[in-house]
Amino acid sequence: MKLIINGNDYHYEFEQLIRVFMPDVKLEKIFDSPCVEGDFVLCESVQSEHDISLRVICSISEFSCKKSEVYVGDNLYKQGELIACKILYSMLCAYSGYRPEWGMQTGVRPTKIFFNLLRNNTEAQAVKYLEEDLFISKSKVNLITEVCKNEKAVMDSSRTNQFSLYVSVPFCPTRCSYCSFISHSFDSIKKLIPEYVRLLCEEIAQIAALTKELHLYLRTVYIGGGTPTVLDTKQLLSICEEIQRDFDLSQLSEVTLEAGRPDTLSEEKLNAIKNSFVTRITINAQTFNDEILASIGRKHTADDMYLAYACARKAGFDNINTDLIAGLEGESTQSFLHSVQSAIDLSAENITVHTLALKRSSFLITRDEAKGKIEAATSNMITKANSLLKENGYIPYYMYRQSKSVGNLENTGWSKPGHICEYNIFMMEEVHHVFGAGAGAVTRLVDTDTRSIRRIYNYKYPYEYIDGFAEMIKRKKDAADVIKKWQKP
Ligand code: SF4
Repeated sequence: MKLIINGNDYHYEFEQLIRVFMPDVKLEKIFDSPCVEGDFVLCESVQSEHDISLRVICSISEFSCKKSEVYVGDNLYKQGELIACKILYSMLCAYSGYRPEWGMQTGVRPTKIFFNLLRNNTEAQAVKYLEEDLFISKSKVNLITEVCKNEKAVMDSSRTNQFSLYVSVPFCPTRCSYCSFISHSFDSIKKLIPEYVRLLCEEIAQIAALTKELHLYLRTVYIGGGTPTVLDTKQLLSICEEIQRDFDLSQLSEVTLEAGRPDTLSEEKLNAIKNSFVTRITINAQTFNDEILASIGRKHTADDMYLAYACARKAGFDNINTDLIAGLEGESTQSFLHSVQSAIDLSAENITVHTLALKRSSFLITRDEAKGKIEAATSNMITKANSLLKENGYIPYYMYRQSKSVGNLENTGWSKPGHICEYNIFMMEEVHHVFGAGAGAVTRLVDTDTRSIRRIYNYKYPYEYIDGFAEMIKRKKDAADVIKKWQKP
């Protein structure tokens, strides 16, 4: 399909919007061309000093629709983009018969939009904008406002001289069939691990030295992956000890370790982790349905989950998260709610409900009834899970969206009151700097004055990380230089 853009630069938003309805469509972008053949979407604008004239055409198979509009007012170019998107959105709804619950909202952080709106608007005005201009459903808007309310206190507690640390251990015992992360199965990469852990510790030490110079204090730590507990106890402890040795921990409030797969845990490992400085772990079920666990390539059962929880509780962990995924093949609403109830029965302090995100989306949302049914079933799972969690006293405390998730639905972290994971909020809302160590880690620098964000990437793959380690250190020094400039009066 062609996306023809004439007289403006709205192609990014148009593409994102088209992908909500047609995730896999091959788009050929054409600029400033009169070409209108075959299947196409056209967005044309002519701007003068006082107004902007817009013309949008959507022509796909038998469907054809065109609309023109003139806007007169402030901020012509930006308003023109919003109006053109609204026109295209209503055309795509008419074409597909599909009304996305997230409306025109295509970004990964809907809460950020709400916080931005609150800078210049009342809450009622912000809610109105989400519902009437972005077409987000009432229930999703309620979710946004609730999450924002719960995030606010944590966000306000961050001081300007604090930062968080993310440590990446991108290895897993086996690869889950739906996984879209940069993670490597343990057997294929075993030989690299001792060197990887050694360099990871060196990078952590470098970050500690640089942040000390910048007078920054460590607030939260997240050791994630992958499945960090695929490492042996000695390797895991060496990472924890490195952090404990290198940083001033006087302002540290939380240390999470992803113990993602129950099959990587043992009593000995859990006790050792508990006796280090880890305060929170995640043990991820994804589902409590054994058949589905086997079909997605996870080598554990629901019983292994119960056992891992019992061991973790015995070791003294009183803050455990469990991830669940809605929309896995073979899962019904009933079986998914059984998984949610199982996590509640385990008294998980945090339950994170994800929507399945597909590596290569097979969901072409046109008028295909079967696909529509999967969308509707997943949406139903999420809605009912949310109600069940609320009934059991959980509160939604962070949320994000991933591209290619079924129905463009969201991932939401739920927490028992008093157990909100601070790191998730600091990272998601870009509250303060997050230094990333290890392969695939991203350092996010936040200029709190201008709200601008600078991202500095580590190499993605462990072998690249090992070979290019000097470059990783150089990038960390560059990050420190950026902060130094921002810190100058
Ligand atoms: S445990 Fe997570 S990171 Fe590892 S393969 Fe499965 S989905 Fe991917």
